[in-house]
Amino acid sequence: MLASVLIAKKRDGFELTQAEIDFLIEGYVAESIPDYQMSAWAMAVYLKGMTPAEIEYLTDAMIASGGVLPKSGGLPRVDKHSTGGLGDKTSLVLAPLLALFDLHVPMISGRGLGITGGTLDKLEAIPGFRTDLDESEIASALQRVGCVITGATKNLVPADRKLYGLRDVTATVPSIPLITASIMSKKLAESLDSLVLDVKWGSGAFMQSRSSAMELARSLLRIGRRMGVKTSALLTDMNQPLGKMVGNANEVNESIEVLKGDGPEDVLQVTIELAVELLVSTERFADRDLARTAVNDRLKNGSVWERFQAMVACQGGEIAGPLPLATSFAFTASSEGWVQSIDGQLLGQCVIMLGGGRRVAGEKLDHQVGLEMLCRIGDQVDRSQPLLTVYARKESDYQAIRVLLEKAIVIGSERSTVPALIESIEE
Ligand code: URA
Repeated sequence: MLASVLIAKKRDGFELTQAEIDFLIEGYVAESIPDYQMSAWAMAVYLKGMTPAEIEYLTDAMIASGGVLPKSGGLPRVDKHSTGGLGDKTSLVLAPLLALFDLHVPMISGRGLGITGGTLDKLEAIPGFRTDLDESEIASALQRVGCVITGATKNLVPADRKLYGLRDVTATVPSIPLITASIMSKKLAESLDSLVLDVKWGSGAFMQSRSSAMELARSLLRIGRRMGVKTSALLTDMNQPLGKMVGNANEVNESIEVLKGDGPEDVLQVTIELAVELLVSTERFADRDLARTAVNDRLKNGSVWERFQAMVACQGGEIAGPLPLATSFAFTASSEGWVQSIDGQLLGQCVIMLGGGRRVAGEKLDHQVGLEMLCRIGDQVDRSQPLLTVYARKESDYQAIRVLLEKAIVIGSERSTVPALIESIEE
């Protein structure tokens, strides 16, 4: 086989066979196919798309590029994948919550991508917390605590690590087939029984429109189910941050409230509904109402917070209460009216400028900076009313983002409506 022939076949809109896709992925990982050919192929896929069968072959080939987490312990293994959004901290609560129901939760998570924060970065705000566990440490954490949140091991889906880096610099990330194979290969390598997908749409998400998020959700669902994992999905609104806190340490602090059954209503709701999906699909409960009641009980009685502390201790950290934050500055409204819209891309840029997100790969973060939203879309605000609190190292850092904040929060004379927070997707 010749890589150039396969690139041309895709360029001309033909379907590749399983053997052809295996050849490309194996060759790329073994370095017999160079970056320039793989980027030409990724661009052909970006432009011509892939059939469901091709996406399945690609997902399989990517999983086969490394090892998988071996099954152990006999308990159902579950996970959640979120496509990422501002203030999305649900993983921190979901992992210990699900473990309380005798489920094993090996959450392999990522770092910040673009403007959206990463679960690993948030957890690293906790002193001592390790996110680099190897396979045997993951297995031991599952046995001891039932849940673990850590980064991908070197051995897990090396093809994705290589291909993602290439896509990032060749403008081929926003391709639904490539995103589907990238996400699902990593999740399926965890040897899951059930998976729930939180597909976000809106100004603070990767997918800006509801229709593109729906298309991605359907593609992810199709592959999960074709590959034998019980998969469900929720479409959730990201036209404003989830909860109030956007950053790292401040998101851990807000998670602590939710772990104790308090905290912002939207974070609670999304977390509970994601948990309910998995509790029903693993047949822990016969219906959603029963599952919801049980989840609420566990959140209120302190057991989720205790399990979270056990997970943190198992991963080398310690947490007794809220983490310290940088100095706070109040950003106030320059006019009165109704909050019409909140631009998540701009807010994400502000967090990066404060040092809470990365400009270049590998950059060290300042975990104590970030934003606290004091308004939501549809709120009526007075002139000079605080709209958000900025946690910054110094006054000049705060001044540097003020212009962006002015643009991000649009105040107008009419009340605007807010899209539904959660939609379930029936296939
Ligand atoms: N997240 C992933 O893991 N992969 C993609 O391709 C996009 C988002």
